[in-house]
Amino acid sequence: MERQGNIRISSENMMPIIKKWLYSEKDIFLREIVANASDAITKYKKLVDLGDAAGEEKYRITVTTDDKEGTLTVEDNGIGMTEEEVEKYITQIAFSGAADFVEKYEKAGGDGIIGHFGLGFYSAYMVSENIEIFTKSYQEGAEGVHWASDGNSTYTIGPCEKEGRGTKVVMHLAKEESEFLRESEIRRLLNKYCSFMPYEIYLNPKEDAKPVNTTEPLYLKQPKECTEEEYKTFYRDTFSDFNEPLFWIHLNMEYPFRVKGILYFPKVKKQVELERGQVKLYCNQVYIADNIKEVIPEFLMLLNGVIDCPDIPLNVSRSFLQNDRQVQKIAAHITKKVADRLTELYRNDREKYESVWPDISTFVKFGCVKDEEFYKKVKDIIIYKNLSGEYRPLESYFGEEVSDEDAKEGKEPQAAYYVSDLDRQAQYVKMFKEAGLDAIVCDTYIDPHFISFLEYKNPKRVRFLRIDADVAGALKEGDSGEDKELEEIFKSVLEGKNVKIKTEKLKNSSVPAMINVSEFMRRMNEMNSFYRMGDSPEDLTLVLNSACPAVMALKDAEEPCRTNGAKQVYYLALMNYRRLTAEETEDFASGYADVLLQYLKVSK
Ligand code: ADP
Repeated sequence: MERQGNIRISSENMMPIIKKWLYSEKDIFLREIVANASDAITKYKKLVDLGDAAGEEKYRITVTTDDKEGTLTVEDNGIGMTEEEVEKYITQIAFSGAADFVEKYEKAGGDGIIGHFGLGFYSAYMVSENIEIFTKSYQEGAEGVHWASDGNSTYTIGPCEKEGRGTKVVMHLAKEESEFLRESEIRRLLNKYCSFMPYEIYLNPKEDAKPVNTTEPLYLKQPKECTEEEYKTFYRDTFSDFNEPLFWIHLNMEYPFRVKGILYFPKVKKQVELERGQVKLYCNQVYIADNIKEVIPEFLMLLNGVIDCPDIPLNVSRSFLQNDRQVQKIAAHITKKVADRLTELYRNDREKYESVWPDISTFVKFGCVKDEEFYKKVKDIIIYKNLSGEYRPLESYFGEEVSDEDAKEGKEPQAAYYVSDLDRQAQYVKMFKEAGLDAIVCDTYIDPHFISFLEYKNPKRVRFLRIDADVAGALKEGDSGEDKELEEIFKSVLEGKNVKIKTEKLKNSSVPAMINVSEFMRRMNEMNSFYRMGDSPEDLTLVLNSACPAVMALKDAEEPCRTNGAKQVYYLALMNYRRLTAEETEDFASGYADVLLQYLKVSK
């Protein structure tokens, strides 16, 4: 005989609250119900291991959708429940557990609990009008029990016929939730939440059906036992990325906390921007959520990976997690492992390291900026290409520390010259090379930030100058080649333009003049345009090369050739620095025809 009972906690107003909060994630109910089924099997298995129950057939979870009846059913052959247990665990614990959850959730301000973990059985009422449970305990002579409730204040319970041990949860879906009757939708959700659960899960099984999940995901195996092929297959299956990963890190730690997982370095598709990766967080093979910055250091989210941390208290608020020592230690451990793996690659297989560097450098630099500990661990393995295209350790471009005394006397830290665009800065590069000077090639999106960061970290050892910032300083020969007469000629050409003039004797005599741009002002401008604050005027200096006969010849030239020649020198230098504006191009071109004419006349 079925009897009726009252659910003691006032649950009427709970569901609307839960529904509102979990609106976009209500599909977690399936995870909760399947995870319960999986737990029930684990409990039974433990009894078998202890010899308290007879072990037998395959453990399995079956999920079925029934269009006609409008039901979604999850069935397991786990431990099952007696009537008293149903009363206790479902009518009391499941409902009060949900009430606890609501309370925690409210405290955490609605968005507090990662992956909405811990709502449990009750979450199925987000999508169901009614739920029935058919269950039979593993205990000898146990009878089947039937329980049903619409999730509000009453329920019925009584004996029933049930074949075999275990629990069947039948969810009578609400009309508007019919999407959960679609096999494809349920398959998607099982793939999302349950793909690594430890027992086989079958969806609407037919003959020789295959489980939807992998019961022993690769990350649980010992790293020594995994083959390269297995790592690649696992990557492809988990991230649906058909590009091979560059390399990977297998985390496998038991003590003092448990972390297992695999982090993959993906091939970068575009160099221009940081691409977000996907780090999936699991708890005992149950999917929780992606990219949880409270647990996994933010910069690691540029990678793809799975991480399983059974010890993280997930049904607490995010802000609690952030300050939890244990969680911080786990994050630090993961960071250290990543740094170790990179260092190992650098030491043991430099060729491979250099070949993957273009793909990983953005990640490493971003990690340094974001995480002090990571920077300390990898600073010696950061490499940059020089002008000959060879990789050199970053450190080799740094100088000795400038002492405070020397600094007082105006000594500056060593200048490290860098190129940010090999094509645009070709003229400067050429001169540097001819003079036997070197520079580093900065070609990733993050380099401008990163070099500022390096200066900040090493204020006494290095200052970075773009190759066009201090050509005169780097390439001059001997003292300043100041030449008032020459400079005077250019003054009229540069009238109204915000360009300073300077004369130097440069090592290379074939280049008439070059533009120098103040490093400081340029960086300011770059920052302003980054934050869309508008540009300030350029701070340019025209450096005249007194070693170049063509420039010196201007002094003996007659007008208008003199002024026009100076104009050509200026524009030529400007062109090697940046693209000319329309006005400048016109001005340059008009004078150029004259120069050409004079030149051709002479050759007659
Ligand atoms: P939690 O799983 O977090 O304890 P739930 O509300 O999901 O909370 O479930 C409450 C209890 O009901 C479980 O602890 C378990 O004892 C029992 N239970 C739920 N589902 C099953 C099942 N499929 N088989 C056996 N017991 C179950």
